[in-house]
Amino acid sequence: MTTRKKTTSPSPSTSPAAKSTSPAKPLPLTPAANNDADHLLLKSNLKQLRLPTIKAEFEQLAREAAQSSQTFEQYLLRLTELEVAARATNTLNSRIKQAQFPVHKDLDTYDFSALPSVNKQKVLELARGDWITQHTNVCLLGQPGTGKTHLSIALGLAACREGVRTKFFTAASLVNQLEEAQKKFGLDPMLKRLDRIDLLIVDELGYLSFSRTGAELLFQVFAERYERRSLLVTSNLSFSDWGQIFQGERMTAALLDRLTHHCHIFELNGESYRFKESMKEKQNPGSQS
Ligand code: ADP
Ligand code: MG
Repeated sequence: MTTRKKTTSPSPSTSPAAKSTSPAKPLPLTPAANNDADHLLLKSNLKQLRLPTIKAEFEQLAREAAQSSQTFEQYLLRLTELEVAARATNTLNSRIKQAQFPVHKDLDTYDFSALPSVNKQKVLELARGDWITQHTNVCLLGQPGTGKTHLSIALGLAACREGVRTKFFTAASLVNQLEEAQKKFGLDPMLKRLDRIDLLIVDELGYLSFSRTGAELLFQVFAERYERRSLLVTSNLSFSDWGQIFQGERMTAALLDRLTHHCHIFELNGESYRFKESMKEKQNPGSQS
């Protein structure tokens, strides 16, 4: 360590060149030793500065830069571009991981022709994410197998790509976690965590009904997000049947009022995509993977 320091920043007492105004003389080291020490020091600095991509790439890029007679600035620019790109990828990956999507489903694998009731232009517009900045909601309603979960994940992924903090829950698991949190630590920490999420996806509302407490907790989460954060809710029930989930006309009406006030509603009417695909498979065995 001490030796390395001496090679790059000689102390004034041992280096007359430091005091003189004449051009700097080469350090009294053999070129090879000098290179090795600089190399180690550079790697250690890059590690300390947390620039792993530059650390991994600088040698290869230096060779390329020498071959193609790049300027120092071009070389540095190339290196920093790689670091910036790697950081953006890492940030996106960790945002997607935190969202906890159950599977990976994207818009490029969504067949819009399968369900003409879904307006493709509208979905593509939502994928740009402005609805989340505007704190509005999305509701996807329809029969099982019509692609609600697929679309909700695809829109969630699109949101992650726009830098939006997103989290996916099934309604049942969200209610379970809220009830657990209330019992163990009190509700506040969990509500605070949920409040930091810009887009909360609640899938499969309506498959299971909740206890009175569960319904109230879910209502509280939905109500707190009103005009402050976005919700994407999917349900196999039409709004007129939501009384079954929330037990009671008053709570249902109050919730729907808030949820649908600023809301993009899609009705996915049609045959189950899953069912259609399995029928095709039965008619044409081996035609699909
Ligand atoms: P839902 O949530 O409405 O029950 P899913 O989103 O789980 O339906 O869809 C069931 C399966 O069918 C999933 O594998 C999904 O990827 C696929 N799927 C549904 N609709 C489409 C579609 N329009 N294009 C491509 N795949 C679809
Ligand atoms: Mg689903």
